[in-house]
Amino acid sequence: MAGKTIETRLFINGEFRPSSNDETFDLLSARSGSLLAKGKSAKLRMILAVSHALHEATKEDVDDAVAAAKAAFPKWAALSPYERGRYLVRLADLIVEANTELAMLEAESMGRPVSTYFDATVGSKYFRYFSEAAYPQGSSSLNTPGFMNITLKQPVGVVAAIIPWNAPLIFFCKKLAPALAAGNTVVLKSSEKAPLTSLYVAGLAKKAGFPPGVLNVLSGQGPVSGAALALHMDVRTLTFTGSNRTGKLISKMAADSNLKNLIFELGGKSPAIIFDDADIDAAARDTQFSIQLISGQTCMANSRIYVHRSIAESFIAKFKIAFTSARLGDPADPNTNHGPQADKIQHATVLRYIELGKTSGKLLTDEHSASGLYINPTIFTDVPENAQIMKEEIFGPVVIINTFDTEEEAVANANNTEHGLYAAVYTKDLDRAIRVASRLEAGTVGVNCTSPTKGDDMPFGGQKGSGLQRESYIHSMETFMETKSVLIKVDRL
Ligand code: NAD
Repeated sequence: MAGKTIETRLFINGEFRPSSNDETFDLLSARSGSLLAKGKSAKLRMILAVSHALHEATKEDVDDAVAAAKAAFPKWAALSPYERGRYLVRLADLIVEANTELAMLEAESMGRPVSTYFDATVGSKYFRYFSEAAYPQGSSSLNTPGFMNITLKQPVGVVAAIIPWNAPLIFFCKKLAPALAAGNTVVLKSSEKAPLTSLYVAGLAKKAGFPPGVLNVLSGQGPVSGAALALHMDVRTLTFTGSNRTGKLISKMAADSNLKNLIFELGGKSPAIIFDDADIDAAARDTQFSIQLISGQTCMANSRIYVHRSIAESFIAKFKIAFTSARLGDPADPNTNHGPQADKIQHATVLRYIELGKTSGKLLTDEHSASGLYINPTIFTDVPENAQIMKEEIFGPVVIINTFDTEEEAVANANNTEHGLYAAVYTKDLDRAIRVASRLEAGTVGVNCTSPTKGDDMPFGGQKGSGLQRESYIHSMETFMETKSVLIKVDRL
């Protein structure tokens, strides 16, 4: 990828252009700590050749992008699903071809090991699926005497998407594919920590021939461009993935502006319950992978494990061996499976939680010693249920393993959180599996499997504070369409 030019301007109305006031922001490499991109005068030291400094969208840029999307909407919405689908398929092909470049961009900007990078495959599948699935159909009814009534499924108009940094390509595709397929036009704001992938894909969309304004991509800070989108009167639906804190702010802004529709995928503190009849090897392997993936920086990571007391010793021993055998290293090295945290802030936050953990529970792994932005896999046991590290999302390779004696106790503790994104139960007893799955307060429950497993065609989202609405293949289409009832009076029926 050396020498390849990476766009860093804003993508508005089919063109890359600087921000309205020429404002730029720095991007540090999680991999090396060096500057990936800095203000105009800075010398860029990196393996990637960046064409410009990273441009930061202003409120004026947001207004321009939304205006471009609004202007492009009627023509895009008027295309047949098949015609829109052809653009989506072209983009899917280009994303797959760019797999190596995209993996490197994420290794650089957020430290994601290239060995665990499957996002171009997963992301392109969304565009492929929606290229063929977007034939929304309403219903009809003769139930009102003298009327034939029908419903129409129609796009909402301009959709805003605000995404996080931990898997930027997946969120780009997951949100934009259904929104565009349904006939909406989109303005996406990437995370200021990982803006390069979204800009790269904007370039691919240009190459795929998307009409100007249909898809706009902004980089910038949440409280500026993110807030401007949340407050915008012409944005009809906002789809957001990120923290609960930001979700609450966006909710308020939506209420203060035009009560736009909201789709939220928020944080988690997901439990996994391991019963005494479980396959201990499989449970240890799965739960270790879940908390280790992207150095613990995934929303659905099983960060709390409840294991039956009778098998706790054996489970913990197996889990510890698997977790602490992580190969920490350069994320660009294919042998690495555990990269650094995404930036200094994430790193400091995780270390702070580890310090807190030491005051409330028993540290089962060595004292933290990794250098740079790396965090060693960390296990705590015997942590009181009301301790801060049991309640708050840590977003790092830190797991709490507590024991339980009864099913009642395990379910009560698993549900004792404001989060409700994902939960897992390991047992060979089918009755128990179904009973526990039905009682767990989570949007998705894995039985004898844990995150990141999820059926692509199954609704995905959070209960309680973890989200609003559901995303998935077909369910996402619904969230990006309005249902209109048309009442047709008929003289003689
Ligand atoms: P974040 O909330 O800090 O930022 C997410 C996005 O919101 C970024 O683009 C940011 O710029 C923007 N933003 C920040 N402040 C804003 C404001 N005032 N107005 C509008 N936009 C604003 O989250 P993050 O640190 O990027 O991501 C990590 C969080 O995302 C974790 O809590 C994680 O669990 C969650 N997450 C959830 C899912 C899911 O599917 N449920 C998936 C991935 C990540």
